[in-house]
Amino acid sequence: MVEMGLTPTDRWHLLGKHGCHYVESAEFVETREFDELALIRPELGIPGVPSDVGGPDARWCRHCEDTIDDMRSRRYNAVGNMKSQVPYRDISWQTVDCAGDCPWCGKADSATQYDDYLDETVCPACAWKYNNGPDVEDPPETDLRQEKPTDEVDPVRYTYYTGNADRPPDEPSPSESHEQARQRAADEHRPYVEVKIKAKYADVVCDHPSLAKMRTA
Ligand SMILES: [Zn+2]
Ligand SMILES: [Zn+2]
Repeated sequence: MVEMGLTPTDRWHLLGKHGCHYVESAEFVETREFDELALIRPELGIPGVPSDVGGPDARWCRHCEDTIDDMRSRRYNAVGNMKSQVPYRDISWQTVDCAGDCPWCGKADSATQYDDYLDETVCPACAWKYNNGPDVEDPPETDLRQEKPTDEVDPVRYTYYTGNADRPPDEPSPSESHEQARQRAADEHRPYVEVKIKAKYADVVCDHPSLAKMRTA
Protein backbone atom coordinates (compact mmCIF):
# COMPACT_ATOMS: atom_id res chain seq x y z
CA MET A 1 0.00 0.00 0.00
CA VAL A 2 0.99 3.61 -0.55
CA GLU A 3 -0.39 6.51 1.45
CA MET A 4 -2.23 9.22 -0.42
CA GLY A 5 -3.26 12.66 0.80
CA LEU A 6 -5.86 15.24 -0.24
CA THR A 7 -5.09 18.96 -0.31
CA PRO A 8 -7.69 21.75 0.12
CA THR A 9 -7.43 22.32 -3.65
CA ASP A 10 -8.98 18.84 -4.19
CA ARG A 11 -5.82 17.22 -5.52
CA TRP A 12 -4.71 13.81 -4.29
CA HIS A 13 -0.97 13.18 -3.96
CA LEU A 14 1.13 10.14 -3.18
CA LEU A 15 2.95 10.15 0.14
CA GLY A 16 5.90 8.18 1.50
CA LYS A 17 8.50 6.62 -0.78
CA HIS A 18 6.73 7.79 -3.93
CA GLY A 19 5.73 11.06 -2.27
CA CYS A 20 4.91 14.06 -4.37
CA HIS A 21 7.56 16.76 -4.51
CA TYR A 22 4.99 19.43 -5.22
CA VAL A 23 3.14 19.61 -1.90
CA GLU A 24 3.87 20.10 1.79
CA SER A 25 2.53 17.43 4.14
CA ALA A 26 0.97 20.16 6.33
CA GLU A 27 -1.49 20.89 3.57
CA PHE A 28 -3.34 17.59 3.70
CA VAL A 29 -6.93 17.57 4.87
CA GLU A 30 -7.35 13.81 4.50
CA THR A 31 -5.06 10.80 4.09
CA ARG A 32 -5.92 7.35 2.85
CA GLU A 33 -4.24 4.17 1.72
CA PHE A 34 -3.80 4.03 -2.00
CA ASP A 35 -5.54 0.80 -2.94
CA GLU A 36 -5.25 0.54 -6.71
CA LEU A 37 -7.60 -2.41 -6.92
CA ALA A 38 -10.33 -0.48 -5.09
CA LEU A 39 -9.75 2.69 -7.08
CA ILE A 40 -9.55 1.34 -10.62
CA ARG A 41 -12.28 2.81 -12.77
CA PRO A 42 -13.25 -0.17 -14.89
CA GLU A 43 -14.39 1.77 -17.94
CA LEU A 44 -11.09 3.66 -18.12
CA GLY A 45 -8.78 1.19 -16.47
CA ILE A 46 -7.06 4.00 -14.58
CA PRO A 47 -6.95 4.60 -10.83
CA GLY A 48 -9.55 7.07 -9.64
CA VAL A 49 -9.79 8.83 -6.27
CA PRO A 50 -11.99 8.09 -3.26
CA SER A 51 -15.51 9.34 -3.94
CA ASP A 52 -16.56 10.00 -0.34
CA VAL A 53 -14.20 12.90 0.32
CA GLY A 54 -13.28 15.99 -1.67
CA GLY A 55 -15.40 17.88 -4.17
CA PRO A 56 -16.70 16.60 -7.52
CA ASP A 57 -13.54 17.85 -9.21
CA ALA A 58 -11.20 15.97 -6.89
CA ARG A 59 -8.51 14.11 -8.84
CA TRP A 60 -4.88 13.09 -8.83
CA CYS A 61 -2.22 15.73 -9.18
CA ARG A 62 -0.65 15.26 -12.59
CA HIS A 63 2.84 14.56 -11.24
CA CYS A 64 1.47 11.77 -9.05
CA GLU A 65 -0.54 10.46 -11.97
CA ASP A 66 2.76 10.15 -13.84
CA THR A 67 4.23 8.22 -10.92
CA ILE A 68 1.26 5.84 -10.93
CA ASP A 69 1.57 5.45 -14.70
CA ASP A 70 5.22 4.61 -14.25
CA MET A 71 4.42 1.91 -11.68
CA ARG A 72 1.80 0.49 -14.01
CA SER A 73 4.16 0.24 -16.96
CA ARG A 74 6.80 -1.38 -14.75
CA ARG A 75 4.18 -3.89 -13.66
CA TYR A 76 3.12 -4.50 -17.24
CA ASN A 77 6.70 -5.28 -18.24
CA ALA A 78 7.40 -7.43 -15.18
CA VAL A 79 4.26 -9.53 -15.69
CA GLY A 80 4.98 -9.97 -19.40
CA ASN A 81 8.57 -10.91 -18.68
CA MET A 82 7.55 -13.47 -16.06
CA LYS A 83 4.85 -14.96 -18.28
CA SER A 84 7.38 -15.43 -21.07
CA GLN A 85 9.59 -17.49 -18.74
CA VAL A 86 7.23 -19.66 -16.71
CA PRO A 87 4.23 -21.88 -17.53
CA TYR A 88 2.31 -21.10 -14.32
CA ARG A 89 -1.05 -19.37 -14.72
CA ASP A 90 -4.14 -18.71 -12.57
CA ILE A 91 -2.01 -18.39 -9.48
CA SER A 92 -3.63 -18.97 -6.08
CA TRP A 93 -1.77 -16.15 -4.41
CA GLN A 94 -1.34 -16.44 -0.66
CA THR A 95 -1.46 -13.38 1.54
CA VAL A 96 1.71 -13.20 3.58
CA ASP A 97 2.92 -10.82 6.24
CA CYS A 98 5.52 -8.87 4.34
CA ALA A 99 6.17 -5.18 4.31
CA GLY A 100 8.59 -4.61 1.48
CA ASP A 101 8.74 -2.95 -1.87
CA CYS A 102 6.98 -4.77 -4.64
CA PRO A 103 9.74 -6.16 -6.91
CA TRP A 104 7.53 -5.83 -9.98
CA CYS A 105 6.05 -2.34 -9.87
CA GLY A 106 8.32 -0.86 -7.21
CA LYS A 107 5.50 0.22 -4.92
CA ALA A 108 6.64 0.60 -1.32
CA ASP A 109 5.37 -1.51 1.59
CA SER A 110 3.07 -3.40 -0.69
CA ALA A 111 4.42 -6.89 -1.21
CA THR A 112 1.83 -9.12 0.43
CA GLN A 113 0.97 -11.80 -2.12
CA TYR A 114 3.22 -14.83 -2.38
CA ASP A 115 3.34 -17.82 -4.68
CA ASP A 116 5.50 -20.93 -4.36
CA TYR A 117 5.81 -21.72 -8.05
CA LEU A 118 6.76 -18.21 -9.03
CA ASP A 119 8.69 -17.73 -5.79
CA GLU A 120 7.68 -14.09 -5.83
CA THR A 121 6.16 -11.80 -3.23
CA VAL A 122 4.38 -8.95 -4.97
CA CYS A 123 1.72 -6.32 -4.28
CA PRO A 124 -1.98 -7.18 -4.66
CA ALA A 125 -2.29 -5.12 -7.84
CA CYS A 126 0.60 -6.99 -9.49
CA ALA A 127 -0.81 -10.35 -8.34
CA TRP A 128 -4.16 -9.40 -9.83
CA LYS A 129 -2.54 -8.24 -13.05
CA TYR A 130 -0.65 -11.51 -13.41
CA ASN A 131 -3.89 -13.49 -13.31
CA ASN A 132 -6.04 -11.06 -15.29
CA GLY A 133 -3.69 -9.29 -17.65
CA PRO A 134 -2.93 -10.33 -21.23
CA ASP A 135 -0.77 -13.38 -21.83
CA VAL A 136 2.32 -13.71 -24.00
CA GLU A 137 2.05 -15.20 -27.48
CA ASP A 138 3.95 -18.41 -26.88
CA PRO A 139 3.75 -19.30 -23.20
CA PRO A 140 6.58 -21.67 -22.27
CA GLU A 141 5.80 -25.25 -21.30
CA THR A 142 8.53 -25.44 -18.68
CA ASP A 143 10.05 -23.04 -16.20
CA LEU A 144 12.83 -21.47 -18.22
CA ARG A 145 14.30 -19.81 -15.17
CA GLN A 146 15.67 -23.07 -13.86
CA GLU A 147 19.25 -23.69 -14.82
CA LYS A 148 19.68 -26.68 -17.05
CA PRO A 149 22.97 -28.51 -16.62
CA THR A 150 24.89 -28.96 -19.84
CA ASP A 151 26.71 -32.11 -20.83
CA GLU A 152 29.98 -30.40 -20.00
CA VAL A 153 29.15 -30.18 -16.31
CA ASP A 154 31.38 -32.61 -14.48
CA PRO A 155 29.71 -34.05 -11.39
CA VAL A 156 31.47 -34.29 -8.05
CA ARG A 157 31.69 -38.02 -7.45
CA TYR A 158 32.25 -39.64 -4.10
CA THR A 159 32.94 -43.36 -3.88
CA TYR A 160 32.54 -45.50 -0.77
CA TYR A 161 33.50 -49.09 -0.25
CA THR A 162 31.41 -51.00 2.26
CA GLY A 163 30.75 -54.56 3.31
CA ASN A 164 33.21 -56.96 1.73
CA ALA A 165 34.28 -54.52 -0.95
CA ASP A 166 37.73 -53.01 -0.66
CA ARG A 167 39.08 -49.93 -2.33
CA PRO A 168 41.40 -51.05 -5.14
CA PRO A 169 45.03 -50.43 -4.19
CA ASP A 170 45.58 -48.13 -7.16
CA GLU A 171 42.65 -45.85 -6.25
CA PRO A 172 43.61 -43.00 -3.92
CA SER A 173 41.53 -42.48 -0.77
CA PRO A 174 39.31 -39.39 -0.98
CA SER A 175 40.77 -36.29 0.62
CA GLU A 176 37.40 -35.09 1.87
CA SER A 177 34.37 -36.51 3.65
CA HIS A 178 31.19 -37.11 1.68
CA GLU A 179 29.61 -34.10 3.44
CA GLN A 180 32.48 -31.97 2.20
CA ALA A 181 32.15 -33.37 -1.31
CA ARG A 182 28.42 -32.68 -1.33
CA GLN A 183 29.03 -29.14 -0.09
CA ARG A 184 31.69 -28.57 -2.72
CA ALA A 185 29.25 -29.69 -5.42
CA ALA A 186 26.67 -27.20 -4.14
CA ASP A 187 29.26 -24.41 -3.94
CA GLU A 188 30.46 -25.07 -7.47
CA HIS A 189 26.93 -25.59 -8.86
CA ARG A 190 27.80 -29.10 -9.98
CA PRO A 191 25.72 -32.26 -9.60
CA TYR A 192 26.71 -34.59 -6.78
CA VAL A 193 26.98 -38.32 -7.32
CA GLU A 194 27.57 -40.75 -4.50
CA VAL A 195 28.62 -44.29 -5.33
CA LYS A 196 28.54 -46.88 -2.57
CA ILE A 197 30.34 -50.02 -3.70
CA LYS A 198 29.28 -53.15 -1.86
CA ALA A 199 30.47 -56.71 -2.32
CA LYS A 200 28.26 -57.45 -5.31
CA TYR A 201 26.49 -54.27 -6.28
CA ALA A 202 26.59 -50.49 -5.87
CA ASP A 203 24.08 -48.00 -4.49
CA VAL A 204 24.06 -44.80 -6.50
CA VAL A 205 22.70 -41.60 -5.05
CA CYS A 206 22.32 -38.69 -7.45
CA ASP A 207 21.55 -35.24 -6.28
CA HIS A 208 20.35 -34.01 -9.62
CA PRO A 209 17.23 -35.56 -11.18
CA SER A 210 18.57 -35.27 -14.71
CA LEU A 211 21.46 -37.52 -13.73
CA ALA A 212 19.29 -40.29 -12.34
CA LYS A 213 19.93 -42.33 -15.45
CA MET A 214 23.65 -41.72 -15.48
CA ARG A 215 25.73 -44.84 -15.62
CA THR A 216 28.17 -45.39 -12.83
CA ALA A 217 30.75 -47.21 -14.93
ZN1 LIG B 1 1.31 15.18 -6.42
ZN1 LIG C 1 3.42 -4.37 -7.53
